[in-house]
Amino acid sequence: MNARVAIRGDLLDFTAEPPWGETESTAVRFRPDHWLLADAGRIVAVQADAPGEGWQRVDQSGRLILPGFIDTHVHSPQLDVIASYGTELLDWLNTYTFPAERRYADAAEAEAGAARFLDALLAHGTSAAVVFPTVHKVSCDSLFAAAQQRGMRLVAGKVLMDRHAPDGLRDDVDQAERDCRELIARWHGRDRLAYAVTVRFAPTSTPEQLAMAGRLCAEDPSLYMQTHVAENRDEVRWVHELFPEARSYLDVYARAGLLHARSVLAHGIWLDDADRAALRESGAQIAHSPSSNLFLGSGLFDWRAAEAAGAAVSLASDVGGGTSLSMLRTIADAYKIQAMAGQRLTAWKALHAATRGAARALGLDHEIGSFEAGRCADLCVWDWAAGPVAERRLEVARGLHEKVFAWLTLGDERNLRRTWVNGVERYRRDD
Ligand SMILES: [Zn+2]
Repeated sequence: MNARVAIRGDLLDFTAEPPWGETESTAVRFRPDHWLLADAGRIVAVQADAPGEGWQRVDQSGRLILPGFIDTHVHSPQLDVIASYGTELLDWLNTYTFPAERRYADAAEAEAGAARFLDALLAHGTSAAVVFPTVHKVSCDSLFAAAQQRGMRLVAGKVLMDRHAPDGLRDDVDQAERDCRELIARWHGRDRLAYAVTVRFAPTSTPEQLAMAGRLCAEDPSLYMQTHVAENRDEVRWVHELFPEARSYLDVYARAGLLHARSVLAHGIWLDDADRAALRESGAQIAHSPSSNLFLGSGLFDWRAAEAAGAAVSLASDVGGGTSLSMLRTIADAYKIQAMAGQRLTAWKALHAATRGAARALGLDHEIGSFEAGRCADLCVWDWAAGPVAERRLEVARGLHEKVFAWLTLGDERNLRRTWVNGVERYRRDD
């Protein structure tokens, strides 16, 4: 295989954060019918002219090429419970999710599940993700091994939960600490993998376990931290009962040393101004999960308030609470949530959050999220339209924003043609 690949198509990425509400933005970089050149997995140039001899040419002209999407919050074992009927968060966990996660104690199940999950991400145009496996160490090992085989950027960690979870899904502080340390030594910083101290959510960890998680973060600031915060009103009430000393749900994590620049907090629907200020000051990000928030009836995230407070916001599928791994479907739901608040989410704001914005919030923008030279060649090729309705809509669309917004709103994984990870084709669909 030739290490020097040149891919031709309509290249779209971002050079800055697009301002709220602007459909014309200088932050957007659209280079129609250009060639992207990658050598040994790295982007070396984008140019209008075809490259010379020595390049393997892949002509995708007439198709849209974007940086691979970054899904900042998703659960690998929950493909088994996606689209489960009739519950809100706490019932949903007990009825569907916990029983499904128990299967991942088994090494063969965990291995097969990790492969199935990562191949599904790649088949939806997502090349990097921040992932929850299960409480079982083997589920985390399997996930990292499968991501390494595929050359993917992955942030993950063994889930911590030592209370309020059924048998077979609880750890304890000492065993959990040993497992974390082993996994960190084995995987953190290896190839494109990073470890996240992974607290499921405040109710399923004792204060002692939260303190242990905080110690791990303090010992090594290069570790990520991932958890859930303020998703559902019953959950928020429960956290207030369990942690009466904390000012707010987010404050439970802050007091345990879990709120820092590498923290990824899913949801953040029921936050106040002091919480948003704490997010800004810490540099932590909210992984906004619109599909999940609608499906579980959790609430409507106030993206504009987070932005106004200076808090970073990325986008996440949160499968299995979310109903699709597609970041296009996720963005379409995000648009509708903002519309309910009288706000307009532009295609630029949304796409930026799912690519360059997420990369920056994770401190990984030197590696992913754009087509700057030196970045890894993680990219996806998309059909502008799939099916007669989208074809007609694209035909009459005027201007770039109208065209891209229609693509986002009408499209999904059926538009995807190719996914490259680190310069290697990992997904392909031909008619
Ligand atoms: Zn989640």
